Parts: sequence; C-alpha cells; structure tokens
Amino acid sequence: MRILLVEDEDRIASFVVKGLQAEGQTVERASGVTEAKYLLSERTFDLVLLDLMLPDGHGSEVLATVRAGDRDLPVIVLSALGEVDDKVSLLDMGADDYLTKPFSMRELSARVRAHARHGQAVSHTLVAGDLELDTRTRCAKHGAISADLPTREYALLEYLMRHAGQVLTRQQLLDAVWGFDFDTGSNVVDVYVGYLRRKLDIPGEPSVIETVRGAGYRVRA
Ligand code: CA
Repeated sequence: MRILLVEDEDRIASFVVKGLQAEGQTVERASGVTEAKYLLSERTFDLVLLDLMLPDGHGSEVLATVRAGDRDLPVIVLSALGEVDDKVSLLDMGADDYLTKPFSMRELSARVRAHARHGQAVSHTLVAGDLELDTRTRCAKHGAISADLPTREYALLEYLMRHAGQVLTRQQLLDAVWGFDFDTGSNVVDVYVGYLRRKLDIPGEPSVIETVRGAGYRVRA
C-alpha cells in the first residue's frame, strides 16, 4: 500500500515511517497542509494518516481536499489528547477513524490493516514454527500448552510472530508494542519475554522466543 503521512513532528513521523516500512508499506510524508495537498494532487495513495495541528494550517483542510476530490480514500486522524473534541466533527467531515497520541506501532498497524482499501480476507490464526496464535481470542498454543494472553504479552508475541525468523532489537519491540513515548533504557521487553516463556515453553525444549546475544529476540519461522 502507498500511504501518505501528514505530520509535522519529526520524531513521530520517523517512528511511523520506519514502522510502516518495516511492514512493507510505501510511505510518503508531508509536513504541512500545502505539501499534503500537493502530494494528493500529484500521486495516488491508498490511505492517509493525518495529524491535525500543522504549521501552515489545520488537518481538516487536508481532509476537505481529499473528500472534495470525491475520493473514497481512507483517512485516519492522528490526534493529541487535547484535540479529542475535534473527533466528532472530523468523523462528520469524513475521516474514517482516529488514533490518539501517543500510540504504539501495533495499534497503528491494526488500524491501517482495518482500513486497507485492498484488504484481503485475513486469517485469524498466526503460525510460526510450532507456535499458533489466535488473533481474535488472543490464545497462544504451543504443543499441548495453551494460554490466554493479556494485552501486552499478546502484542509482543504477535509482533514477534509476524516477523518470524527476523531478529528484533529491544528498541524495535519497544516501539512496536509500547509506543514511542517509552524509555529506551527500560528492561520491560526482557520482563515480558520472561512472562511468555514461563507460559509457553516446554521443559527440555528450546524456548519459544530465542535470545540472539547482543542483538535481540527471535521467534523461529
Ligand atoms: Ca502537529
């Protein structure tokens, strides 16, 4: 998919661009209303991620341009907490969804998948090696073991399984599961990997989540 990101804050923009590119999406960024309107007139996109407070205007101007073009282009608004009052009017104006900052990469990619214009039928079971994860019930299975996972544990395992075979650094996992506001020095990833291992590892067999020394973690494909 080709995604237009309209966001003036570099830190958030680079978080979103890197995360979506890692999932195979093509992302173009506009840092203001004028640039966004220009890109919309020049290129075709499958989805727009739209910040509201922009240096040269308000995101609603971009939304109006999208809708005036009679497009059924999905628009997801990325709004800060104080802007939540705008939510109703934006949905009235034709935004399809909104996400409140700060958000995690996992939340964002779930919304992006939900609104993907060319969305294919999505299977509800992720499989990696001998691990299975039901994305509706959040139940993980490993051999005879099955465990219902709380939100963060589920999010961590889902992300690892969607990138099975790849080594993911702690920072990548923090960004994906906890969001861009989380402290880099935190050992929360190791703690949650520990929780998952305790629930899903089979004694005497290799762990479901492999530690790659000096690099990060990996779930076998
Ligand atoms: Ca902004």
